Amino acid sequence: MGVEPYLVTSSVEMIVAQRLVRLICPKCREQDPGKEFAALRAQMGAEIPEVLYRGRGCHECRGTGFRGRTGVFELMPMTDEVRALIQEHADSGAIRKVAVKQGMNSLRGDGWRLVREGRTTVEEVLRNTKNEKFTSRLE
Ligand SMILES: [Zn+2]
Repeated sequence: MGVEPYLVTSSVEMIVAQRLVRLICPKCREQDPGKEFAALRAQMGAEIPEVLYRGRGCHECRGTGFRGRTGVFELMPMTDEVRALIQEHADSGAIRKVAVKQGMNSLRGDGWRLVREGRTTVEEVLRNTKNEKFTSRLE
């Protein structure tokens, strides 16, 4: 963004990213029987729960199966390692990799929390976090 690295590393304590995902309509929520859980878990990791939900579609959600939205978040603390990478002009992928290794839960990882809670769908999380290279802190 054209900001000198020292200005960022000396004044920023935490970097927050947010996306909005649609929530499954509570009036027509049902277990999703058509899912290939094994394939999804193999692809996305054990954070994908065995039971998934979807919205069937009803008058409350105008047939979409979704009603309302909520945020998924990614919090990256400005650790010494992250600070050093920024000062070296490291690319964002390298910075992300270190942050995830240090325990940062990614946007997508936070999305899986909502999937485990039965509040949104796998597709909705993937659609809203499609630029992510890391799917979870386990990678
Ligand atoms: Zn509905």
